[in-house]
Amino acid sequence: MSSEQSVIVWFRRDLRVADQPALTAAAASGRPVLALYVLDDSAARPWAPGSASRWWLKHALDALAVDLEALGSRLVLRRGPAVATVLAMAREAGAGAVHFTRHHEPAEAADEAQLNAALAEAGIDCRRFGGNLLFEPEALKTKAGGPFKVFTPFYRAALAAAHAIKAPEPAPERLTTPAAWPKSDALDDWKLLPTKPDWAGGLCAAWKPGGAAARERLDDFLEGAAASYASDRDRPDRDGTSALSPHLHFGEIGPRQVWHAGALAADLAPQARAGIEAFLREIVWREFCHHLLAQFPAMPERAFNPTFDAFPWRDDRDALGRWQQGRTGYPIVDAGMRQLWVTGWMHNRVRMVVASFLTKHLLLPWQDGQAWFWDTLVDADLANNAAGWQWVAGSGADAAPYFRVFNPVAQGRKFDPKGDYVRQWVPELADVPAKAIHAPWESGMEVAGYPAPMVEHKAARERALLAYRQIRV
Ligand code: FAD
Repeated sequence: MSSEQSVIVWFRRDLRVADQPALTAAAASGRPVLALYVLDDSAARPWAPGSASRWWLKHALDALAVDLEALGSRLVLRRGPAVATVLAMAREAGAGAVHFTRHHEPAEAADEAQLNAALAEAGIDCRRFGGNLLFEPEALKTKAGGPFKVFTPFYRAALAAAHAIKAPEPAPERLTTPAAWPKSDALDDWKLLPTKPDWAGGLCAAWKPGGAAARERLDDFLEGAAASYASDRDRPDRDGTSALSPHLHFGEIGPRQVWHAGALAADLAPQARAGIEAFLREIVWREFCHHLLAQFPAMPERAFNPTFDAFPWRDDRDALGRWQQGRTGYPIVDAGMRQLWVTGWMHNRVRMVVASFLTKHLLLPWQDGQAWFWDTLVDADLANNAAGWQWVAGSGADAAPYFRVFNPVAQGRKFDPKGDYVRQWVPELADVPAKAIHAPWESGMEVAGYPAPMVEHKAARERALLAYRQIRV
């Protein structure tokens, strides 16, 4: 315990104690450390966490509190407008400094600027740290000095600069506590978990939030599935990917920890190198999306390519509802949408297929799909989600060509050849043989309780191409 002026560490989506430079610096100062989390979920705030994210957040905060207790400290919880609440806490605790990790979402970045100004006025130190990305957006620029809009050159630039990725810092051994602890909200009072109905059973079965679970998942992946990641990552019927996305989103593990653990694993097991490199390339995709959002903050709302502002999207609530419920009549699409509903996660290949189906087969706006993902994904991430949706719709930076309209039957046959993934999530199709499972209607099968395709692929494809021609992409 110390009566010195404390340092507030304001946690947001950096809910970890290792490789957490804001916390490390606070601990190194030798002053008392006050770990603070502020829930700012007022209706006026853009992109407040969706339902599945709130479920994850509750458990992530529980886990962080345990990790801080192991360092002899605590997590203080407050609810309210972020900047005003942090400032009020700094005044109340007589803090000498506030530390936080830099974020790149528009609302978070605006908070940082406002807090910086308010703390300066109050005569309190404000220090911002990196750690949620491998490279800050200013660190990677094109030769002309602008932001990258294409992934491949971005990836090359990232590899060329990879030697500068700092080794992750261990957690502090102990944190000095303040002379008196400020009052904290009770986490349960925030009511982050669903009650009536409680739809979170599938999430509880699928996930273990928290820093310790994240590191365990990373180690298991690097010792196992990573070796065959390059070939298995497109197979939703296999556990071929890391499933680290919610952990990375909430900052329970930092990208530098993943990067260095991957590099070490590749050195120890050269036969796994190709798989691990392919995996680390995806970590750079995350980086690319975050850099894009930092430089084009309207990306979640507006088409990156303004030509798409004139795209003739349809408004069809009934069709949107069938897509959301996984009742389109296309087995791979329905399996994905139901996996999402039950577990809060969907395989990347299937995300592309369902997003293509929504925007191209149904001609519904990518923003509708993005909003549904935002509410239902445990890894809902403003940058990755907006970039993913715009990539598929064709309106994004370095997007898929507009004329690429995934055929959901061909995608199913290629990436779920035996139909195991479909059978797992669409029980109505459990008895359909592999040959017919991705298009039961082609073999004249009617499956009780399963709908016929809501649109015919060829006709939908032509309609989509016609719509794209209208905006002359
Ligand atoms: P792995 O294959 O193990 O990859 C490791 C990590 O790399 C991931 O955890 C993730 O952090 C990052 N990553 C992988 N692929 C991508 C990608 N295409 N873009 C950006 N980062 C990537 N990812 C999210 O984290 N949140 C989202 O809200 C999100 N929405 C998406 C929406 C659409 C329409 C599409 C097509 C993709 C979306 N993605 C999103 C990207 C990707 O689908 C997920 O990151 C991935 O499926 C997570 O599974 P994993 O952790 O097993 O990935």
